[in-house]
Amino acid sequence: MNQSAQNGHAVAPRHRVVIIGSGFGGLFAAKALRRDNVDVTLISRTQHHLFQPLLYQVATGILSEGLIAPPTRDVLGRNSNTRTLLGNVTDIDLTARTVTSSIVGRETVTEYDSLILAAGAGQSYFGNDHFAEFAPGMKTIDDALELRGRIFGAFELAELASTPAEIDRLMTFVVVGAGPTGVEMAGQIAELSQRTLKDEFRKIDPTRARILLVDGAPQVLPSFGQLGTKAQRQLESMGVDVETGVMVTDVDATGLTVKDADGTERRIESYTKVWAAGVQASPLGKMVADQSGAETDRAGRVLVNPDLTLPGHPEVYVVGDMISLNTYPGVAQNAIQGGRHAVKLIRARLDGTPSTEPYSYYDKGSMATISRFSAVASIGKMKFSGFFAWLMWLAVHLVFIIGFKNQITTLLHWAVSFLGNARSERTTTAQQVYARNIIERLGWDEAMPDLPRVPGDREGDQDAAPAPAKRTTDPAA
Ligand SMILES: Cc1cc2nc3c(=O)[nH]c(=O)nc-3n(C[C@H](O)[C@H](O)[C@H](O)COP(=O)(O)OP(=O)(O)OC[C@H]3O[C@@H](n4cnc5c(N)ncnc54)[C@H](O)[C@@H]3O)c2cc1C
Repeated sequence: MNQSAQNGHAVAPRHRVVIIGSGFGGLFAAKALRRDNVDVTLISRTQHHLFQPLLYQVATGILSEGLIAPPTRDVLGRNSNTRTLLGNVTDIDLTARTVTSSIVGRETVTEYDSLILAAGAGQSYFGNDHFAEFAPGMKTIDDALELRGRIFGAFELAELASTPAEIDRLMTFVVVGAGPTGVEMAGQIAELSQRTLKDEFRKIDPTRARILLVDGAPQVLPSFGQLGTKAQRQLESMGVDVETGVMVTDVDATGLTVKDADGTERRIESYTKVWAAGVQASPLGKMVADQSGAETDRAGRVLVNPDLTLPGHPEVYVVGDMISLNTYPGVAQNAIQGGRHAVKLIRARLDGTPSTEPYSYYDKGSMATISRFSAVASIGKMKFSGFFAWLMWLAVHLVFIIGFKNQITTLLHWAVSFLGNARSERTTTAQQVYARNIIERLGWDEAMPDLPRVPGDREGDQDAAPAPAKRTTDPAA
């Protein structure tokens, strides 16, 4: 694709930009490059772009996953200079300028001239990764569907339970982390129990569900200042128990142990826990930092140069949740603006006017919903709460949902859920609840034994005969 000949004239190879990640940073960088004279390859381990701010609505049955996760291939369909590859990036070689990705055993090596690294962040359990089995986080569509299965499943099991203690344990929902995601989750579980499910069961009374929001910080929504206190009051008026200054010290299948500010440890019995505390940048950050001598912070974010380049590598840009720079927050706008800044610098290099213009994040404000008709919003020095903030939240989120059809459908789903009591996306399957644990226990190849494995197949190496497909689990292979 790079080296072609037309009418007998050799055409100079085009500059190759590789983007890792189809999230906010990666997708908006690819979109910005649409009309540039470059070849773009976007590699991501999901085939979709994910609008993470609405994941909690998938988990609580308001929206379907397709509405917030359009296929990247579709979004970038008109970018004729862009190729989209599905693959989990396992290696970046800064010297050879290659990216190695792999999917179900097929390995692909892609060469680059410029690299935009936008692989985001995952959940952090602060060194207690074993909590994940019992308290899933909410970072992916899989996470949200698993939580949907667990939340609705808990009510189903409570209806079948025979002792009051068992019913209480099933109807106690604990959300760990009182940032925007935790607040939104707790608010939605409260609305589910008090409105959507209230008339549907015969033995249990869903309105008696206990929803706990716990956080080690002294207040709800710490980054929102005074608005955090308003949000807490609103949550409490909806029946959510808010416990701040409380550290989670252990999590297991039937509950969790917490430590109060005075050092007292106590147990909370609960089957359904949601982890919404802490993020850890993609390990690809540490991988490139180790090779370049750059530093990473405690959350694994790369200490980039002020222009977002990796120290010593002006051809590598790190953006979004992976960067540590000027205490810029891990929010969608920081990733979008970072992706666009990287594109601007790539253009300058190609125009022969290399630039090290520093990246500057423009804060457009932050918002969190608490319940239907109630939100908090902080825009510069202006603070809003209640219905007006909720309307602003509605408008902003609608604008960022990709695709006109998705916007209209989302609006309809919101009307059903917020004006009425219903939720149209309550379907759950056993696979949603158990698949993650089974894949983690067995490993991908063992959990999916029928998928072929083709090692050493280099991207662009058209002449190489593919190695025969083989199963890694086949002892005779
Ligand atoms: C539940 C939730 C709610 C949020 N709410 C808000 C909000 O209301 N407002 C706001 O501004 N921000 C919000 N955020 C934060 C916001 O979503 C992130 O800051 C933003 O997504 C960061 O963009 P990014 O491009 O850096 O990473 P991401 O959007 O996370 O994208 C990372 C991409 O990299 C891919 N990837 C990761 N590792 C690999 C690999 N090894 N190989 C290949 N591909 C890989 C992923 O599949 C993904 O496509 C929320 C986040 C969450 C989780």
